[in-house]
Amino acid sequence: MVIILKQNAKQEEISELLQWIRAQNVDPQSIEGESQHILGLVGNTHAIDIDAITTFPAVENVRRIAEPYKKANRKFHHHDTIVDVAGYKIGGGNFQVIAGPCSVESEQQVISIAQSVKQSGAHLLRGGAFKPRTSPYAFQGLKDEGIKYLIQAKKQTGMPIVSELMSMEHIDLFNDVDVIQVGARNMQNFVMLRELGACNKPILLKRGLANTLEEFLMSAEYIMAGGNSNVILCERGIRSFDHATRNVLDLSAVPVLKRLTHLPIIIDPSHATGKAELVESMSLAAVAAGADGLIIEVHNNPKAALCDGAQSLDFPMFAKLMHKVDVLKKCVDSLKD
Ligand code: PEP
Ligand code: MN
Repeated sequence: MVIILKQNAKQEEISELLQWIRAQNVDPQSIEGESQHILGLVGNTHAIDIDAITTFPAVENVRRIAEPYKKANRKFHHHDTIVDVAGYKIGGGNFQVIAGPCSVESEQQVISIAQSVKQSGAHLLRGGAFKPRTSPYAFQGLKDEGIKYLIQAKKQTGMPIVSELMSMEHIDLFNDVDVIQVGARNMQNFVMLRELGACNKPILLKRGLANTLEEFLMSAEYIMAGGNSNVILCERGIRSFDHATRNVLDLSAVPVLKRLTHLPIIIDPSHATGKAELVESMSLAAVAAGADGLIIEVHNNPKAALCDGAQSLDFPMFAKLMHKVDVLKKCVDSLKD
């Protein structure tokens, strides 16, 4: 962290600042030029609040040089984290496809989708039981019943299940859920993130609709700071001005995050595009970009889906996509430096 002091800062104002900095257990190194006086803070500056520094009258400007996240930072953890979901690995060269309906609608529906996506090569099953809907009048999910049906599908197919938790009050229903999804709208629900840090399940953390990658990693840091380092990041498109697609898929998030963090990163082309016909091309692009997996919405009858039918693939579309992903993945792997 670097502090630029005001040219006309008084000696007592500088002393007051230096005293405060030393009280934070960091060492202020002073660099005095003809027209500028700079302090370089050496030590653990992660817990220092930039806003608190700017309140000192001697301060002109403050810049953070090191990233504010530590546990999620690749600088302090060089090797890729591999998250193991009931034997299926994600990250560190391991690629997984998570597929299933946006919402669990009935036991029969989720079992038939599970069987079909499994046959096409997906290893993990997704399905929402608690749905974050924009309208309070829209279908909100089957809730505890939905979780029961997912568990039935897991029993029948052996597929580990991924489902969204919207409130900690439901956590006990998630005992047999293998991966807890934190939805885009809850990415900065810090109370929930902190509590999920104390649980030992893998967490699928989706990027918020309008959050920077640094904010995304700070949310992962909340979970990791609580002791749970099994975090899978998911880019699912961000808000922009163009409504040609539901969101704008930020694919460059994959290589950027690969540099910044050791955590696996998967892509959700369904929520990113909002259109079934765009899911295949963006899935292939995600593979080429180096993603560690995909999460894709698949429905037995997309036209009749209770949620997100327009972006859901039918069974033949998903089977075709899986074949292409498989072929492309081998090709991309053969090009690795
Ligand atoms: C979902 O996965 O069904 C979902 C609601 O996703 P997001 O939180 O990314 O909108
Ligand atoms: Mn959905």
